[in-house]
Amino acid sequence: MTIKSAETNEKNILSGGILNLEGSLIVMNDPENKILVELLCNNDKAFSVEWGFEDPNNDNALMIEAYNDGIVKLGKRNDPLAKYWYQYQNYVITSDNSDNTTAISNINNFKTAILFNPSGVGGDDYIIVAKVKNSEGKVIKTVRSQILRVVRKIQFDKLYHMKGVRSLLQYASSENIQKYFNKAFIIYEAPANSIELEDRLSVKYLAQYDRNNEVTHEYKWTDIAAPVDYNPPIRKSNGNIVYTEKLSEEEKLNCNSQSIMDKADSWKKRLLRLKKECTENWKNDINLANAIVSVNRYHIMYGNDNDPDAFYNPFQPCSSVPITINGFTTYAGSGLWITAPVGGMNLNNGITIILEWITGDEDITNVIAHEIAHTTNDFVNGRPIMYRDEFGPGDHSQTNGEGLMEPKPFRYGKIIDFSKEEIKILRGYKK
Ligand SMILES: [Zn+2]
Repeated sequence: MTIKSAETNEKNILSGGILNLEGSLIVMNDPENKILVELLCNNDKAFSVEWGFEDPNNDNALMIEAYNDGIVKLGKRNDPLAKYWYQYQNYVITSDNSDNTTAISNINNFKTAILFNPSGVGGDDYIIVAKVKNSEGKVIKTVRSQILRVVRKIQFDKLYHMKGVRSLLQYASSENIQKYFNKAFIIYEAPANSIELEDRLSVKYLAQYDRNNEVTHEYKWTDIAAPVDYNPPIRKSNGNIVYTEKLSEEEKLNCNSQSIMDKADSWKKRLLRLKKECTENWKNDINLANAIVSVNRYHIMYGNDNDPDAFYNPFQPCSSVPITINGFTTYAGSGLWITAPVGGMNLNNGITIILEWITGDEDITNVIAHEIAHTTNDFVNGRPIMYRDEFGPGDHSQTNGEGLMEPKPFRYGKIIDFSKEEIKILRGYKK
């Protein structure tokens, strides 16, 4: 029996060893992926082949235990609707049994072939069993495959670094990253080199990127953070208020007034809109997918910086106006608007950025592995890289150091592994 990939370049089957598993690995990021199974029979009496399979430890994921979004179902065991066998070329499937686990294909010129569609859950394993039958339906030979194991794969086309920022090549190596993902049956393919980005894309603060500035290529914080002053506040008939952001002399004497908080809120929203727009522009201009990018800083508001601009106070003299962003409260007048420090960030489309202020070998690899785990359900080419449930709110686990998908995995100075629960989710089980 030869077993090979349905794809001509045979990329979908890897020989064993990478995860220290026996037998062949079937890459099932796309649950519709099928492997081609061919059987050569140099026996005149061979007429048809009945295909079936075994689950070596009877531990494959039950349909009800695994990820299921109503359209895509990763688990197959005990699913009466699961379909495992598909016709290949002119090797007609002549029969299928009631629970869909077996199929019979005909033999032409001493050869038959069929497509096998296993589950999409990492770690599920199969032995394919082919019963060769004569024209009377009697089994004349039984052939079994080696153990086939379902895995999923994450690979980055490219690794980049902004000009003047460290390369992550060494940190993102297979040796450093694969170990996090072994138990999740995920194969990590490390990029082979790191490419330096051109000047215009190499800004200090990615989310302050200004595509129209030919010189600095980025917005200066003191400019974008300056309060605007359109018109006096107007209360519209629907109750909404159009605010200026600049404080009046009267307001400066009463820093806790509602109107100041409203202005601070309006200021915050304007800056968040700009941050989003800058990030989108950078993403569009760089035109990457599936890449890890080493960058300097994300945004001046996101902590861990000593830029003197950060102490610019747009709401003097009021330093006590609370602003809450993503659950973190800060004060409009306290200089740097420190929200949650960010160590790395998944920008969707498979793009992950890692920030330079993260240091220490273990913390850097923790952050890379954490961001890669976020990336696994990014959409690339219209489909998630891997189907899986979210770890929790914001795609994080609400734990402290108990699992790598906690929100701040950059502060331990030692390797943090995925928790049992996180491993289950990465394999394709339900949360
Ligand atoms: Zn995260």
